[in-house]
Parts: sequence; C-alpha cells; structure tokens
Amino acid sequence: MAAPGRCGFFVQRKNRFCNMIVGKGKRFCGEHATMEEVGGTKRIPCPLDPKHTVTEDKLEKHLKKCNSREKPRAAYFVENINAGPADVDENLPQVGLSEFSRTDLESLVDKLKTAVEGLQWDVEDKILSHLVLQDELSNPKNGDSAHKHLKQQASILGHLEDLGLLRRGRCFVEFGAGRGKLSHWIHEALKTQEDLKTQEDLKTQEDLKTQEDL
Ligand SMILES: [Zn+2]
Ligand SMILES: [Zn+2]
Repeated sequence: MAAPGRCGFFVQRKNRFCNMIVGKGKRFCGEHATMEEVGGTKRIPCPLDPKHTVTEDKLEKHLKKCNSREKPRAAYFVENINAGPADVDENLPQVGLSEFSRTDLESLVDKLKTAVEGLQWDVEDKILSHLVLQDELSNPKNGDSAHKHLKQQASILGHLEDLGLLRRGRCFVEFGAGRGKLSHWIHEALKTQEDLKTQEDLKTQEDLKTQEDL
C-alpha cells in the first residue's frame, strides 16, 4: 500500500508506488488521476499503445477506432518502394582512383563533360521573401532551424510570386514535403490574396455606391 496522502499508482518500471502527494480524498496524483475508477470501471493502458488509457468497459469499442491500430494500407502503398535494393551497397567493391588506368579516367572525364554540356552554371543567388510569412519570420519564438526553413519558404513563395505562379487554379506539388509547410504557406498566401481581392471588390462597390449617392 502507498503511504497515506500519497499517490497509490504502482509504477512497474520503478517497482514502487508513485508516492506523489495527492489532493484531499483522492487516491491518485494528477498524472495518474486517469487510473481512478470512473463509475466502477477502471482505466487501463491501451493494449495497442500504453501511452494512453481507456476505461475497461469501453475497450472493445476503443480498439476499433484507436489511432494506434493497424490501418488498412492504401491500394497504391508498396513497402520500401523508394529504398532501393537492400544488397546493392555490399556487392559494390571499393576501388581507389589510382587503380584506374589513365585512359579509363580520361574517358570518365569525357563522359562527365558531355553530361554537363548545356547546363546553366551562372545561377544567380536571389533571396526573396513574401508578406504572408512576415509575422513568423520576426517571431522570436522560432529557433534557428525553424527560422532557416521559414526564410527558405518565404524565398520560394517570393519567387513563385515573381514568376506570376502564385495563383488560384494552379496545382502545387511539394516533393520531400516533411511537414508540408511549403504547401501550408502557399495555401495561406492564396487565402490572403483572396481576402485582399474581396476587400478590393468591396471597396470598389463602396466607391461606386458613394458615387451614386453623390
Ligand atoms: Zn501518481
Ligand atoms: Zn488506444
């Protein structure tokens, strides 16, 4: 038994009771309050993910909708489709450059020269920004890493705007999207555009009305 006035939740990992001070008349501390029996039914850790709990009598229902359950895979899902063959790396022998003949190396250099022919080398470094990210960019709560991403997203949006691509009715595909933040900002930018347009429309209507009134 836990000491009186102390949390009675048994922490398996520590092989002892939690022992946090509990509120008057309570058996468990705030952290373990979910273990308190509700109307006679006990909360138990979800069998699919012990990080959350569920009342014992609703377990069956919960298992059907729990977010940790195995979900049916989409028809297009192919496991490891982008992983490449697993054994390729091991089979490639390591060869030093010095082990190649001069002729071999020269033919490699020729191949590389042909491959890069016509490539545009002098790409100008042009960092742009976009209004929609301005608040976030000056938000001191963002760490260096977040700020770096915001600057990049702002610049991409700036370039899209510059090229007249930031319009409704276009399809944007974000590759290697991570959290899909670029898509998010494109969406925000388009929304703002729409808002401005509505405001402009309203203003024009108002102007017209005022003119009519005069
Ligand atoms: Zn506790
Ligand atoms: Zn669950």
